[in-house]
Formats: sequence, C-alpha cells, structure tokens
Amino acid sequence: MSDDFIREIINEHNTAGRFDGRVHTRFPPEPNGYLHIGHAKSIFINFTLAKEYGGKCNLRFDDTNPAKEDQEYVDAIKENVRWLGFKWDAEFFASDYYEQLYDWAAQLIKAGKAYVDDLNDAEIREYRGTNAGSRLQAGKGATPPGKNSPFRDRSVAENLDLFARMRAGEFPDGSKTLRAKIDMAHPNLNMRDPVMYRILRATHHRTGDQWCIYPMYDFTHGQSDSLEGITHSICTLEFENHRPLYDWYLNELNLYHPQQIEFARLNLTYTVLSKRRLLTLVKENHVRGWDDPRLPTLAGFRRRGYTPAAIRNFCLKIGVAKTDSRVDLALLEFCLREDLNRSARRLMGVLRPLKIVITNYPADREEFLDAVNNPEDPAAGSRKIPFSRELYIERDDFMENPPKKFFRLSVGAEVRLRYAYFIKCEEAIKDAAGNVVELRCAYDEATRGGDAPDGRKVKGTLHWVSVKHAVAAEARLYDRLFTVENPDGERDNWLNCLNPQSLEIIPEIYAEPAVKELGAAEKFQFERVGYFSVDKDATPQKPVFNLAVTLKDGGAKKDIDRAK
Ligand code: ATP
Ligand code: MG
Repeated sequence: MSDDFIREIINEHNTAGRFDGRVHTRFPPEPNGYLHIGHAKSIFINFTLAKEYGGKCNLRFDDTNPAKEDQEYVDAIKENVRWLGFKWDAEFFASDYYEQLYDWAAQLIKAGKAYVDDLNDAEIREYRGTNAGSRLQAGKGATPPGKNSPFRDRSVAENLDLFARMRAGEFPDGSKTLRAKIDMAHPNLNMRDPVMYRILRATHHRTGDQWCIYPMYDFTHGQSDSLEGITHSICTLEFENHRPLYDWYLNELNLYHPQQIEFARLNLTYTVLSKRRLLTLVKENHVRGWDDPRLPTLAGFRRRGYTPAAIRNFCLKIGVAKTDSRVDLALLEFCLREDLNRSARRLMGVLRPLKIVITNYPADREEFLDAVNNPEDPAAGSRKIPFSRELYIERDDFMENPPKKFFRLSVGAEVRLRYAYFIKCEEAIKDAAGNVVELRCAYDEATRGGDAPDGRKVKGTLHWVSVKHAVAAEARLYDRLFTVENPDGERDNWLNCLNPQSLEIIPEIYAEPAVKELGAAEKFQFERVGYFSVDKDATPQKPVFNLAVTLKDGGAKKDIDRAK
C-alpha cells in the first residue's frame, strides 16, 4: 500500500498510533472559479486515500475572500465533484467558523501573540522585505531581516479594543490589520508577522454583510482542518513554506493538530491551470464560457465528452510526486480513448462530404445493411444502415493524383464501403474551376457485407452515408487551446499564444439516421474519424456534436487521420 510518499507517511502514522489510525482528508476549494483538471488530481487523491484506509473525506469551501467568491461557483464545484464520482462525508464552509476564528484571534492577542497594525499593504510588504524575499527565492543570497512595525508593541488592552472596533466597522477598508507577532527576522517570510485579518467591506455569498473583517487563508485553513478532525491535510507544494505557520497557529492555540502534506501540482501541456487565467479567458470571451470544451475545466471536459472514468484513470496514472512536472495532454486523451473504445457505440458520419453516385445501382432501390454497434461489446448488438445509389464519402478519402501508398479512392481504384460493397471509381466530375464535385462509381453486388467471391482484395475501407437518408448536424472540432506547450512560461505574453484554430465549426455534416437515437450528452464514435459527444446546444431539428478526441494520438483535429 505504500506506492507513494503520501501513503508512506500515513502508514508511518498508523504504525506509530498517531491519529489513532484514523484517516480523514478533505478537498478544500475556494469558490472563486470552476474546478479544473488539477483540482481533479487533488480530489482523486483525497477521496481515494480516505476510501482506501476506510476513512472519511470532507468537502470544505475555503470561502474567506468574498470579493472573488460566489454561490455559482459553490454549486458548480459540488456538481463537478459528484460527476467525478465522489461523495463527501460532510460539507463545510470556512465561513461557518468565522465566530470561532474571531475568538481564537482574540485569544492570541491576549497571549501577546497578535497585534493590530496601522501600516498599509505596501508598508507591510516593505517592512517584511518581500522584495528581498524574491531575491532569496532566486538564490541571490540570504534575506535581510525585516523591520518591526511601529505598532507592534501596542498593549493587549489596546489591541483587544482595536480588534473589536475593526469588527464593529469603525475603520475604513485596508486601514488596519491584525497580525501575528512572530519574528520579523525569520528566514521564512511567511513567519514575519503574517496578517491574520483584514478589513474588507464586501458582501459574502453566505454571511452577507455580517462581517467587515475577514480572516486570511493561513489563519483559517489549519484551524478548519483541526475543527473537522482532519488527519492529513494534503495540499500543493506552494504551501510547503506555509507549513511552519500552519503549525504555529495550531500550537499557539493549543489545538488538535493535523499533519499538512504537500504534493506537486498538476500542469498539463498546451493549456493553463490557474483559476485567474481561466477567469481571464472566460471574462474576455476568448472561449464561450466556463464549460467551453476547449477549457481544462471539469465542466469543459464534461461537455466535450470526457467521462469521469477517463479522468479518474488519468489521475491514477500520473500518481503523486514531490516535484512539479508538466503532463502530456496526450496521456489524458489516451485515457479517454481507452474508456470510450470500450463503451461508445459506433456510427458513421461524414464531416467534409464528397458525393458519389453508384451508376450501376438502381435509382429507386434502397436496402438496409447490418452494422455492428460496438466491436468491443457484443452486447451492444447491431443496427441497420440505409444504402442507396447516392452516397457521401469523406472528401479526403479521394485523391486525384494519389501517392504510392494511398489505399483509398482514386479513379480506377477499388475500395470497400464499410458494411456494404466494394466500389470502383470510374470517373471524377469537376466544376468549371477544376474542383472534383462528384464521383461516379460502380459497385460489385457479390461483395455485399463481405469479401469478393473471386478472392480479389482491397486495402481501403471507407465510411459513408446515404444521401437521401442523411441527417444533417453541426460538428464542432476542437484543437489545443494554446500553440505552445507551456503557456505559463510565456508570462505576460500568454494570451498571444492562444491557438486561433482551436475551434472549427462545420455547420453541416451528414450522419446515418441512428444519430437521432443518441441520448443527451451521449458519447459515440464516428468510425474512422473520432469520438464525439452530443452537445447541450443540440435540438431535435439540428444535432450538434463535439469532437471529444481523435482516434489516434496527435491531439489535434488536423491529425484526424483515417486508417489507410
Ligand atoms: P489555482 O492555483 O488554479 O488558482 P487554487 O489552488 O487557488 O487554484 P483552490 O480552490 O484553493 O485553488 O484549490 C483547492 C485544492 O486543489 C487545493 O488543495 C489545491 O492545492 C488543489 N489544487 C489546485 N490546483 C491544483 C493543481 N494544478 N494540481 C493539483 N492540485 C491542485
Ligand atoms: Mg488556493
């Protein structure tokens, strides 16, 4: 059971009897945006660990910044977690703990461990030496000590009075803060008298205007974990140097003390996973909303046609580590293909149609051919596909001047039409501009649904749709959102790296009639093209399909590359 470092830590705790062998985790999103695939990793880790050890996992909204948070996000987050297939044991909000946190802050004041400061934001930064800190992170030498605030030595009585008046709304926003009194020379900047409370008049989505002071993340998180009896507080690496502070608050308040454990956050190629950046993409209309199928949000993946099983399997495959890395988008796509290959029914649809006429097939005839619904799942059965004299095939399945190994159609060549007959192309009809607009072909009746009785072979098999039975639909093809592997590495230039071709809408594709039976959001395969899903914009008159993933690796619609 110890195939990663988190399980090793838990096993050690269990051996030592810490937490009485309990495992209680939590997923603590801030409701200031939609969840993305990085959050899925965190959800997966927290929920699967709890399950594996027979423990519990809470959902806790870390709602301490009313200016950026919203009920819409709370609802979306809950829906996403459920969709991923996880059930939380209890649901909490950090805002439920505001009164308790306030009391604890007062307790620290009384112990001489916290003070009200009149310095403003910029001054606090300057006194702490934040800039020097970034030099340190860049490896340019030790951080010089910070400077004590002139308000650091206020008396307990004065601090208590000022803190109460902060709460009562006597002071303007930003004019005072409550700070922990730790050590302004501490090598870890987070320990240089961190801010515990700020004054902020913003309506909170749950507590309304009840509060005008709000606790900071660091002063909230550990105590929330403690109140809920969390054992292992699993978070991403950027909190590693906040852990001393997490521990400090719990120790000074003498509270039950969970163990914080950090792991590397997920980064994915060709996309961004920061809520701030995702918000920019949505608000500035670079995409069509939070559930745009190009976004790495769970809502986007869901709409695109990703399955919860594919995402869970992806999380399992990437595992947990201590060093940051960027995972190849191709791995996620592989997981989706693997899942849909098993479960999705096959249909035929032509994205970029070229009409063919079977000259020796009677104009008034139609027949219904047997087609397998899913070769991976015999229980899925079969269906009938209409065949007639006029068909659509994919435009790029025909070439006027084919290269040597082109096994699809060209004048004089013979191919198989999937589930139907061998056809031989006899003539390409062109328009005045010289574009091929129609093919004339002949079919061999003896090859219906199988091989030629004379043993002759063809190498190519094409998908097709009967013109008179075709259902018109809109197809939305998606490509990577960014043209570079690591848009985060582009800093302020990241928006210039958006892929202008990330969405291609084909207003009219043609599909076999069975597409009418597809359920809402159903995923299916258009044979030789890719996996698709029914989009929520679909109407009974006009189906709309999203390209979820191509059949082969490559990750881009330009790579839609048919079996030769
Ligand atoms: P972002 O940095 O994208 O804005 P966040 O960390 O502010 O996200 P939270 O709502 O605070 O988002 O995250 C909830 C939990 O999900 C936290 O425990 C956080 O560590 C974890 N998490 C966020 N992003 C990732 C990621 N890319 N990979 C793994 N876990 C993540
Ligand atoms: Mg966060």
